[in-house]
Amino acid sequence: AYLTQIEAVDSEINSFVTVDREGALKRAEEVQRHIDQGMLTGPLAGVPVAVKDNLCTKDLLTTCASKMLSDFIPPYTAEAVANLERAGAVVIGKTNMDEFAMGSTSETSWYGPTKNPWNTEHVPGGSSGGSCAAVAAFEAPLALGSDTGGSIRQPSAYCGVVGIKPTYGTVSRYGLIAYGSSLDQVGPIARDVADCAAALQTLASHDEKDSTCVERKDTDFTGALTADIKGMRIGIPKEYFGEGLDEEVKARIMEAARTLAAQGAVVEEFDLALVPYAIPAYYVIASAEASSNLARFDGVKYGYRAQGYEELHGMYKTTRAEGFGAEVKRRIMLGSFVLSSGYYDAYYLKALRTKALIKAEFDKVFERYDIILAPAAPTTAPKLGASLSDPMKMYLSDIYTISVNLAGLPGISIPVGKDSRGLPVGMQLIANCFAEKKLIRAAYSFE
Ligand code: GLN
Repeated sequence: AYLTQIEAVDSEINSFVTVDREGALKRAEEVQRHIDQGMLTGPLAGVPVAVKDNLCTKDLLTTCASKMLSDFIPPYTAEAVANLERAGAVVIGKTNMDEFAMGSTSETSWYGPTKNPWNTEHVPGGSSGGSCAAVAAFEAPLALGSDTGGSIRQPSAYCGVVGIKPTYGTVSRYGLIAYGSSLDQVGPIARDVADCAAALQTLASHDEKDSTCVERKDTDFTGALTADIKGMRIGIPKEYFGEGLDEEVKARIMEAARTLAAQGAVVEEFDLALVPYAIPAYYVIASAEASSNLARFDGVKYGYRAQGYEELHGMYKTTRAEGFGAEVKRRIMLGSFVLSSGYYDAYYLKALRTKALIKAEFDKVFERYDIILAPAAPTTAPKLGASLSDPMKMYLSDIYTISVNLAGLPGISIPVGKDSRGLPVGMQLIANCFAEKKLIRAAYSFE
């Protein structure tokens, strides 16, 4: 049924870079046999899943939506995907995204933009826009995304679906093509909180192949689907509700806050002083790590190699000039600049110190609150093309999501209604590290 829906709508939505029809049907038969034999009983057995195209899938094209990897067929599968497959999930295809996950609209893809299923003149958000649009357009019941600075939560908000960015280290990054390694996390996207919780429970498992992956014993996330939020302390950062936030988005989120209070949560406002420093710190750190991570794409080891070059350096230069798009080049240049001698201390080191201060501020906040309530984005989904011409404006729109990555915290985005144009509004809930259960409990109270 999902493959049929993809056939019906994806020429317009463009959620998928690759649809693995044959592979999925074959795998579904195999899973069905295992279910019949009683070998697979979990909630994910037989569930189709759409996988963001920066997660490696053995023998299945994995492009990062870049010309650079447009013929890259990985020899192994990312651990996050393998975990879902072991639980019986069926990969149906690979989803579109901003090139190398750099962007907030899914428009920088080499394969053309994904459209928002609620209104195809608007973007689905990004960078996991393909995954979120696929779930919103009933092309998949479950999808995987990655979130370096908001790329699961913001497109989930724009597409009216639920997305979780887990605590850094919860889900293995093995096989996730790195953007900003100290910030990247893989997470689930689904139509409701219960589905996300079930997927996260499977995704959260220790992996020796990722040295930053922690061993967690508290991963009974479906057990947290109680919606009991009596006495839960919820804080609203004043700085998130001032200038720049769309009035309709603000109104929907404030209504949601009142709903939480009506169910017995204690809701109050507080000051989050370091908000203005999050965007500069993030774009320095993420670009620095990206410039290093993307050095491997040189025309030798992976993917694209230019024709008609002279000598070795000429091959590197021409390959990278032709293989990367404008946004990726901008990040590589910015990252190389802030890491270069003479500037390292002034920019990169300062950004790392700022990151530590932001983490310390959140530590203090979570002494007082269980949950922080925030918007996921300043507006609902913008029109296609509106952000491309103004990258600074696009960077600034990450204001509510990126400090969560800088501090390694878990965050969830859930739909809380629509604006007057019928576009979904998303609300973000943030918890302390390893407190996903609180997030799930609070979010489930809306279902
Ligand atoms: N919009 C942010 C960026 O462009 C976040 C992207 C992401 O989380 N992958 O870096």
